[in-house]
Amino acid sequence: MRAPAALLQLYRLGILLAVAWLIRTHHARLRVEGDRPVRVEEVASWFTNAAGLRLDLTARGGFHVLDKAGGELGYVVRTLPHANRIIGYCGITDTLVALDSNGQVLGFKIRHSEDTRTHVGDVLAERHFRKTWNQMNWDQVAGMDLKQAGVEGVSGATMTSLAVAEGIVHRFRVAQGELRPQPVRWGTRDIGLAAVLALALWLSLANAEGRERWRRWFQWLVIGYVGFLNGDLLAQSLFTGWAKSGIAWRMAPGLVLFAAAAVLVPWASRRPLYCQQLCPHGALQEVVARHAPQHWRWSVPAALDRGLRWVPAALLAFVLIVVMLPLDFDLASLEPFDAYVIRSAGVATISVAVVGLVAALFVPKAYCKYGCPTGALLEFVRARGVNDKFGRRDWVAGLLLLAGWAMHWQHAALCQLTLGPAV
Ligand code: SF4
Repeated sequence: MRAPAALLQLYRLGILLAVAWLIRTHHARLRVEGDRPVRVEEVASWFTNAAGLRLDLTARGGFHVLDKAGGELGYVVRTLPHANRIIGYCGITDTLVALDSNGQVLGFKIRHSEDTRTHVGDVLAERHFRKTWNQMNWDQVAGMDLKQAGVEGVSGATMTSLAVAEGIVHRFRVAQGELRPQPVRWGTRDIGLAAVLALALWLSLANAEGRERWRRWFQWLVIGYVGFLNGDLLAQSLFTGWAKSGIAWRMAPGLVLFAAAAVLVPWASRRPLYCQQLCPHGALQEVVARHAPQHWRWSVPAALDRGLRWVPAALLAFVLIVVMLPLDFDLASLEPFDAYVIRSAGVATISVAVVGLVAALFVPKAYCKYGCPTGALLEFVRARGVNDKFGRRDWVAGLLLLAGWAMHWQHAALCQLTLGPAV
């Protein structure tokens, strides 16, 4: 690669890293400045007579729950900020645990989570998981080995529920001074993803004979295993969650490897590894297009094509605004990828998935070309060879970084402007 093209690639990777760093810094600041204090209404479901909370200044660092006369009803403890390094699928979770006046756990509730909303909903809906620690005392929770205790996580929200479980045990251990370094969990799912990745690399980089035939079989593996079975699709909700809270390399090392390869292979080799081989929604669109009658094909007029190709970049700008400002919008509903986790998929994500697949009947991979912000992000970092030049997308990326920095810098003023002075 000639020096200018190499510099351009460094610029693109630098923009990506700078945006991720900006989001991380921004949310770290928001956590410290705007941390959510525990309110007495939050404990009312456990302690109906609760009238006040008194901070416990011992190593446990929770709150005594008091009635009107100052009598002690019980105790509550929140997992953040102590568990702020325990990341589920794409973010940290603040959990509140209640203990009765005898020191036995009554239950827990999730106060706030940066994880995918539908996954959090699944965790709360699973009664058996919700009762995991009930009747245990402080020492029993702190000494718990989740694996030995058979805590497997909630189906469809495994990483989120395991992060909640680890957060609770970790929080109780903090007070015991018994913190142990958390191991990296290499489960069957991670090994499976690593194997799929190895096959994709072979298909993408080797010049094997009959590669296209193998690729068609491989697409079914990607759709079935990566998509419907695991739901391990790269998405804006995942990337922004990692940028906010940190990368889930301990809880989901296979997915982290997947994401790293999706960014770094095209960056270094020009091959769009993820979009060409590994994305279940891309593969499903190809399958749909292959089975559509030829006479259904529609050629998009050039002017419309030019206009629609800006949509993914506009969606990336929208994602940045949602992440930097306190807007209540679930990023999972912007893309079709959560639809593969059928059990917990929301209506919006299913609608985007279905519309994209119907569009593929008429325009092959229409969603990839005209709708996918994650594809646009991966395409932005992809190398284009020695004749590569600084183009429009590089200008736009630089401007987005500046816009992100402005939102960070003027955050308070922008909150007032968008949400009013009460925020
Ligand atoms: S453009 Fe989006 S939907 Fe298409 S293959 Fe890439 S990530 Fe998947």
